[in-house]
Amino acid sequence: MYNDETCLPTAKTPCSTAGYPAYVIEAETATDVQAGVRFARDTGVRLIVKGTGHDVSGRSAGAGSLSIWTHRFQGIDVKMNDPVAVKNGGVASVKLEAGMVWGDVYKAVGKSNLTVIGGADPHVGVGGWMQGGGHGPLSSLYGLGADQVLEMEVVTADGECRNISPESNPELFWAMRGGGPSSFAVMLSMTVKAYPRLAGHQYGFQYNTTASSDTFWDLTANFSSRLPTLNDHGAMGYYYFEQDAGLANRSSAAAIYGTFIFPNKNRPEVDAITKPLEDSLRSAPWAREPVYVGSKTVGFDNFMQFWAATNAAESALESQMPSQLEDQTQFCLLGGGHMHILCKSPALRSLAPKSGAYANEGDPSNSNWKAEYFGEPYERLLDVKSKWDPLGVFWCKPCVGFDEWNIKPLNNVHQDVNDRGIGQDLVRRFLKTCTMNSGITILYSLIFRVDATPKSKMGEGLRSM
Ligand SMILES: Cc1cc2nc3c(=O)[nH]c(=O)nc-3n(C[C@H](O)[C@H](O)[C@H](O)COP(=O)(O)OP(=O)(O)OC[C@H]3O[C@@H](n4cnc5c(N)ncnc54)[C@H](O)[C@@H]3O)c2cc1C
Repeated sequence: MYNDETCLPTAKTPCSTAGYPAYVIEAETATDVQAGVRFARDTGVRLIVKGTGHDVSGRSAGAGSLSIWTHRFQGIDVKMNDPVAVKNGGVASVKLEAGMVWGDVYKAVGKSNLTVIGGADPHVGVGGWMQGGGHGPLSSLYGLGADQVLEMEVVTADGECRNISPESNPELFWAMRGGGPSSFAVMLSMTVKAYPRLAGHQYGFQYNTTASSDTFWDLTANFSSRLPTLNDHGAMGYYYFEQDAGLANRSSAAAIYGTFIFPNKNRPEVDAITKPLEDSLRSAPWAREPVYVGSKTVGFDNFMQFWAATNAAESALESQMPSQLEDQTQFCLLGGGHMHILCKSPALRSLAPKSGAYANEGDPSNSNWKAEYFGEPYERLLDVKSKWDPLGVFWCKPCVGFDEWNIKPLNNVHQDVNDRGIGQDLVRRFLKTCTMNSGITILYSLIFRVDATPKSKMGEGLRSM
């Protein structure tokens, strides 16, 4: 959707093709990917990796770039009782090719009576999701996507294919699990742990008041104050606050609505958690008008199949994308003791100024990106980047090391984009590879656009070569 913000869903920013790649490799084999990486390394052309193109910051698009598209990498390989998975708390391992989307993974894994941790949205791809961290409806139970990976096959910036794991290239393996996508290597596949088939219940709810009323804000405060308790009961879920009408054909009332998953809980257990909440909302002393409470609790005996079926047409987040840009909707996730709020709200930020943000669903213009997206490990990630990609073959914004380059705006791209990372195609480098008789490969580069100067570390590396 964003594609370097050349095509935002607003009248102010009409679509343009200016932010798109000039060439695309629809890669089918590791060799195709290697050829693309080597070409980019040798010519300095801007390299883009794309799975689904879902990235909200436009990291899978770039003007004039060479794009390696991984969507043809399809396939799932289940190994029951894989000793590596068992050692790490699973019952099987599942190898996922890089072009898979979660909806297809869930269907296949569900058939094997297994459970994996993936995104809420069936259309999100495994590649960018996991490398950015990856949350999903079962993360409160088993953790983030990055916690699940046992091994990866990757193509590094030198064009080599490698298996990476805690034993083999552990630093790169560490960095690629949450250190940001398309920053260290192209991922060809990842092998994740799988857990047994999961049963439980889903509680879907909608609480309404009059639009923008005081009662709505009291309801919001009361509901929010109950989240820690719900979280203690293992609830993980997605919910929205809508203070007014006019969004996506919804009612003219204000609403809090969403779904909570209760893994491994039976119906009486879920009722015992949710009924007191509902009763207290219906008879709230703070309510100056009626609060309408509606809910439905449904059971599942195979979460993978249940989620794939109920979210096939439209995902929770997808339905929010246009309104996400509006100030009046806040999209929140609850789980694992954390609340993840997807909104542009300085007021909320000021309540927790030292909290972080999730780069995969972050604001592309966040100027505090290092601290909020990466925190303390940033320097370590930069070291890994400098070692594995000293020439910056992989580049995106906001990604580790992107500020090592000066970015110059493009004329024919929407003005807002000018400060937002579209300019790597201006950071043209002319690279050559010399393989010495000794077998050592030396990379060197020349900067041939005066406006494209590396600023520091990686840049210093370049200048000294
Ligand atoms: C509708 C929607 C629903 C979402 N739901 C969730 C959710 O439930 N949970 C969650 O955590 N996030 C969610 N997100 C955010 C999502 O994690 C990011 O958009 C993520 O970047 C998507 O990854 P992708 O591979 O599908 O997208 P792409 O746009 O194809 O890629 C995203 C990034 O990953 C890189 N990349 C992709 N494949 C590879 C690869 N094989 N090797 C190296 N780099 C690669 C790209 O270069 C780019 O930087 C959602 C986003 C949308 C738009």
